[in-house]
Amino acid sequence: MAYGCRPTCDNCRPKYVRCPACGERSFLTLKACRRCKRPFTQLDRDEAVRQWEAEAPTRTSSACFTPRAPREGS
Ligand SMILES: [Zn+2]
Ligand SMILES: [Zn+2]
Repeated sequence: MAYGCRPTCDNCRPKYVRCPACGERSFLTLKACRRCKRPFTQLDRDEAVRQWEAEAPTRTSSACFTPRAPREGS
């Protein structure tokens, strides 16, 4: 593989949701907030995606890609 997206990269697709209760940023894949355990609803996820789309123009397009490079141990 030549290019890969970092697990924490949210440049190419939304990966984070901000907890409405405590403001903690969690992964969209999590079922509940890491800090306060508040479950994320579909509305929270939709809002996170909307927010992500709204901020899309401010992102740098190439930031998420790791260039082809020899990696130790792989
Ligand atoms: Zn929370
Ligand atoms: Zn990416």
